[in-house]
Amino acid sequence: DPVGILERQQARESAARTYARTLPIVPVRAQGSVIHGADGRTYLDCLSGAGTLALGHNHPDVVRAITDTLASGAPLHTLDLATPEKDAFTEELRGCLPSGLGDDVKLHFCGPSGADAVEAAIKLAQTATGNHTILAFTGGYHGMTAGALAVTGNVAVKSPLPPGGSVVRLPFPHPYRCPFGVGSGPTRTAGPDGVELSLRYIERLLDDPLGGVTSPAGLIVEAVQGEGGVVPAPDHWLRAIREITRRRGIPLILDEVQTGVGRTGRLWATQHSGIAPDILVMSKAIGGGLPMAVIAYRAELDGWAPGAHTGTFRGNQLAMVAGTATLRRVRADRLDEQAGRLGARLLAGLVDIAREYSQVGDVRGRGLMLGAEIVDPSGPADTVGARPADPRLAAAVRSECLRRGLIVELGGRHSAVVRLLPPLTITPDQVERALSILADAIGAAVR
Ligand code: PMP
Repeated sequence: DPVGILERQQARESAARTYARTLPIVPVRAQGSVIHGADGRTYLDCLSGAGTLALGHNHPDVVRAITDTLASGAPLHTLDLATPEKDAFTEELRGCLPSGLGDDVKLHFCGPSGADAVEAAIKLAQTATGNHTILAFTGGYHGMTAGALAVTGNVAVKSPLPPGGSVVRLPFPHPYRCPFGVGSGPTRTAGPDGVELSLRYIERLLDDPLGGVTSPAGLIVEAVQGEGGVVPAPDHWLRAIREITRRRGIPLILDEVQTGVGRTGRLWATQHSGIAPDILVMSKAIGGGLPMAVIAYRAELDGWAPGAHTGTFRGNQLAMVAGTATLRRVRADRLDEQAGRLGARLLAGLVDIAREYSQVGDVRGRGLMLGAEIVDPSGPADTVGARPADPRLAAAVRSECLRRGLIVELGGRHSAVVRLLPPLTITPDQVERALSILADAIGAAVR
């Protein structure tokens, strides 16, 4: 009784849980990029557990790794002790980390959400520098725990709470919603672009004795902002951020919770720009669909005491084996490159849709992390030609997608960006289907 299950959960669960309401389906089975609902319908999953399922649902490698481990009599949870399963995972992970973290790179298992790994990264940077203030960006999203929320930009999720931590927010060079109103890349008008102004602002602020941040503890950034509306950081901007932080001795924390494990067309999104962070934050796909969060960092930062960031559910055994199986398959089949190719096709399809519908104000992304910003074309254009966000229409597009069997989520300013985050194993046929459903859904929603 799918309706009964839905209604019971909505009645029993806290209103703070939104997914049950925004995706009113009851999934009962799933394979690859397809979810079967209790209503007998099938859905093409372009959300993949918020990006956790790099190999899609129930990939045979992951299923085998988990069932073999359970059947082997290995302990299920070991409080992060050394085990053969953990040994295999750390070996695999070390083998694929971006070069530049050093041969003696340190790993720390967190527990086990992305937000907790962000907490760990912040505490590590503060411990290593003896400083307190963290630099973070407009549009950034890093999680819902108090410290992670403090570095998150979204005031809608922060405002009911007292401010946590000492954070200074810096302008992210969004090409369509540029904090300076000048744009960058294709939307640039004249004069200096958003990238240049963002860098200039950051340097001046850090030099300003009245700016309050001459000695920050660290700077946290996403290589592609996900929840913030799928906004890729320009490679040359990221390289400049690396150069500024290195020159000033500020640990650079790169949050690859959503972008990691092949999502953007490279194993790590940082590899597009060629930079290496001082602390790399990983979660989501790293555990093959099971809860896992890890930070990797330069050995010279490793000055914190044993137990400085601990928790019961770190380093779960099943997440280790699911994560190892996922990393191996992604690397063996070069699923990162496949994500790049399929993502390019998906982006080209989104460009076509945007040509047809003026309600699609901007499309952007990298690899299989894409977004289409839904706007009101009759609203006033700002200085870069961006129209006002249309959250009501975006929600209608999501509903029309779901009605046609396509699962997508919303993000970005005013929740007006339709986000596509399919498994890396999505097939070319499924990509075409997603595009045609999305075009139909937008057509229906604007009518
Ligand atoms: N950082 C980024 C970039 C994320 O996208 C997310 C989750 N969407 C988080 C951190 C927080 O991860 P979690 O929800 O597992 O706490």
